[in-house]
Amino acid sequence: MDEPEEHHAHKGAFSLAKRLGSALLEWQKGGRPVVSKETMKKRLTICRDCEWWSELGKSKWAMCKACGCTSLKLLMGTSQCPLNPPRWKKEIEEIEEPPLPEGF
Ligand code: SF4
Repeated sequence: MDEPEEHHAHKGAFSLAKRLGSALLEWQKGGRPVVSKETMKKRLTICRDCEWWSELGKSKWAMCKACGCTSLKLLMGTSQCPLNPPRWKKEIEEIEEPPLPEGF
């Protein structure tokens, strides 16, 4: 199993929350860019095939257990998979209409 950039085994909820906060701050600083619907679907397909992904039944609620981010992370252009190497990377795209993530 690939490991997140920073080994997560000793990390708890505080570290996951800190990582999520950093991702949101970076997104805010970057002008809150969102990816295209195609990129969003591509990322979701990769995550759904990943051992770190967790979906709560039919609630449409999902999160990456490696970084603590929810599926909203997939929409953010500044986000990147935390594994080393990452399974998907940051993508700043020029798009006309932002996609809506599944369940939102
Ligand atoms: S962001 Fe990376 S580690 Fe997290 S679920 Fe997706 S592919 Fe897996």
